[in-house]
This record gives sequence, structure tokens and C-alpha cells, in this order.
Amino acid sequence: MSKVTLQSQSSPETPEISKVATLWAGYRRHMPQSPDTTAITAGRSDSSALAPILWPNTVWESSGLVEARQRATGFRADSFYARFGNPTVTAFENAVAELEGAESALAFGSGMGAVSTVILALCSQGSHIVAQNNVYGATLAFLQGPCQRLGIDVTLVDANVPGSFADAVIPGKTMLVIAETPSNPRLGITNLAEIGAIKGPFTLVDSTLATPLGQNPLEFGVDIVLHSATKGISGHNDALLGVIAGEKDLIDSIWSYSVLHGASASPHDALNALRGIRTLSVRLERQTSTALAIARTLESHPKIASVSYPLLESHPHYSLAREQMRHGGTIVAVELKGDFDTCDTFVSHLALAHTATSFGGPETLVCHPATSTQAGFSEEVLASMGVTQGLLRFSIGLESSADLIADITNALSAI
Ligand code: PLP
Repeated sequence: MSKVTLQSQSSPETPEISKVATLWAGYRRHMPQSPDTTAITAGRSDSSALAPILWPNTVWESSGLVEARQRATGFRADSFYARFGNPTVTAFENAVAELEGAESALAFGSGMGAVSTVILALCSQGSHIVAQNNVYGATLAFLQGPCQRLGIDVTLVDANVPGSFADAVIPGKTMLVIAETPSNPRLGITNLAEIGAIKGPFTLVDSTLATPLGQNPLEFGVDIVLHSATKGISGHNDALLGVIAGEKDLIDSIWSYSVLHGASASPHDALNALRGIRTLSVRLERQTSTALAIARTLESHPKIASVSYPLLESHPHYSLAREQMRHGGTIVAVELKGDFDTCDTFVSHLALAHTATSFGGPETLVCHPATSTQAGFSEEVLASMGVTQGLLRFSIGLESSADLIADITNALSAI
């Protein structure tokens, strides 16, 4: 049976042709394939359209009250009311579930929509959360602000200390363990097997910096993988989106709360993200090889105090990163010998890199974490995250590696 046979048939389909199509689809489902291929095949609808279909609908008609009741009271109807689900969003969720090797996925209006909804779905007053101390700034702010206000206790732990997460778990009280790897912005690497082995609480890994093609935390026994799909997954700075994936029962129960919380994903953003997934593999190939080349070049530069990149041999968790990641990601953290003013001078001499806070898009971006992504934290908290006044975070884009290196080294000569 060959694909050519299918393509050469004309429509309308005869019963034989549709049987061949069904067999082919079944064969394909059972073929082992690389994640790069899954990024192309995942999340396709039954339609013959090759590009994702946009359903802008917020509401659908039911055939009668019985069907309306089924949709209103069942799980995750995606043709009822858009806060419950939407077919374009479902296609995106299915694609992420396949890429993460998960039974199910659930999308949100932003990465923080995902973080806050999961926390509030699983925790209540008196619950306890164990979280990595160097998580993304807004996640930390949510843990220290709204969580404390709602009576949810949080213990922050150092992911570099083996066993720190498990040791902080209070049996019967800890509902959730939160890790982020690689961490934003300092690119710390947390041991996924250690998180996956924790018994009792639900475990969640924010895998945004790796993308689903970089690592799959569920393979290590983690319960929930989370992404700000605003970043590499969408990849073009034109979608604000979050997504989680895990076992169906768990995701369904988070959905039950999510439908009340209302941080629902926009179908327009899901469409852009689904399109982004199709090119994720090739974008990552270019961006991660440039990131490594830049990290290697800058590491020995006299005006640079340190460079962090997971696949740089000097990274303290280089071996762990190699074990659990397929690539090192698109972010390079560079610490200049200097302070805010040194960084300001350096950035003002960059011709290619834009000063902006996001990452994962085609344009190279640079930001000063202490005054942007992690702004508002005390020097002590910043120090626990490894964020100094001399630290800059580069999001490596799709420009030529040689041009970027020339741009950065030229700006360094100005400080
Ligand atoms: N998690 C990580 C690791 C992030 O870097 C970000 C944003 O930068 C978020 C979560 C939040 O995502 P969003 O900005 O889509 O809400």
C-alpha cells in the first residue's frame, strides 16, 4: 500500500478508496516516527485541508435540548460555547499532546493562564506547594502573592541540591511540586527523573525553554508538562498562549476548574501556534546551533564574566542536560563584567538584536532580566535566581550566525 495510490484517486471517494485511506492512517499511527515528523503529522483534523482551519466561533447550535444538555454537562465539548472548547484550539491541544506523548492537553490564553489555572485547580486554602526558587518571575510572583493571600503555603527549594524537592514535601498537605527546566533566565537544569519519582503530590514541569521537541518531562514520570506556547511553539511573536499536557483524567479535572476560571485560549492564537509547530523542528535546528556557536564564542571574551547555555561543556549540569534534552534551547544568558549601565551601553550598540523580553521568535532579542522579566524582586531574591545587574538574556533568532556574532562582538568593543 503506498501513499501514491491514495493521491492518484479522484474524489468523490469510493468505498474502496476510503478503506485504503483508513488502513493507511492506521498504519501511520503505529509506525515509529521521530518527533520532527510528529510536528508535521500531529493535530490534523479529519478534513482534507492541509493548513489548520480557523473556527472563530464562540457559540454553536445544538440539535435540541438533549444535545445541548450533553454538551453543557459533559467534558470538553468543543462545539458548544468557546470557553468550554473550540475545534481550532482542540487541534492545537491534540498536536501538543502527541508531541509530549500525553493522553490529553489543555490550552489557555497565556502561559501564566496555564500556571495560575493549574495551581488554583489543584490547591485550596491550607494546601502546600513545593517550587523551584528560580522559576520565571511571574510564576514566582504568583506563588508569593495570590497563593499566600489565598492561604496556600509555598516552600521554595534549590534545584541544585539533590533531593530538595522530595525533602520539602509534606505528606497529605503538599498538593503540587513545580519545577522549571531549563530555568528562565539563568538556564539552570533540574533533574527530571528526580521530579518524576516524587510520590504523593502532583508534579509539574514548565518546559517552555525546551519546547516539546527539546525534552518530554512526562517520559520521566512527571504528571503535567506546561509551556508558554507564546514562545518557541508559536515561534513568530504573534500568539499569546499556554498549554499543559498529561493523563486524560487529570487534564479533564483541571478543565472542570478552567471552564470557570476562564483563561481560555483564542482560536486565532491556536491557529498561529499550530502553524508554528509545523516549522518548529527546522527553526530549532538553526536557532540552537547558532545559540551554541554564540555561547562558545562569548565564553572566552575578556569583557564577559560568564555564559550559561545547557550544552556548553562548562555548564554545571552539562551531562544532565545531555541526558534529558535533545537540544540546548534558543536562549543564551550572558553576564557582562559590569552593571546596568554597562549593559545599557552594550545593548545600544547592537544593530541586529532587538531590546524585547520574549523569546523563541525569528528575531534575536536581548533583555536585562533584573529590570524586566524578574523586575520587582529584592536583590536577595535576584541573587537566589542568579540574576545580577550585569546579566543579559539573548533569545537567538533565525539570522545568520556569523552576522549575530559580528554584531555582538562589535557591541562588546564599545564597553
Ligand atoms: N513560563 C516561562 C518559563 C516563561 O518564560 C514565561 C514567559 O516568559 C511564562 C511561563 C509565562 O508565559 P506567558 O507570557 O505566555 O504568560
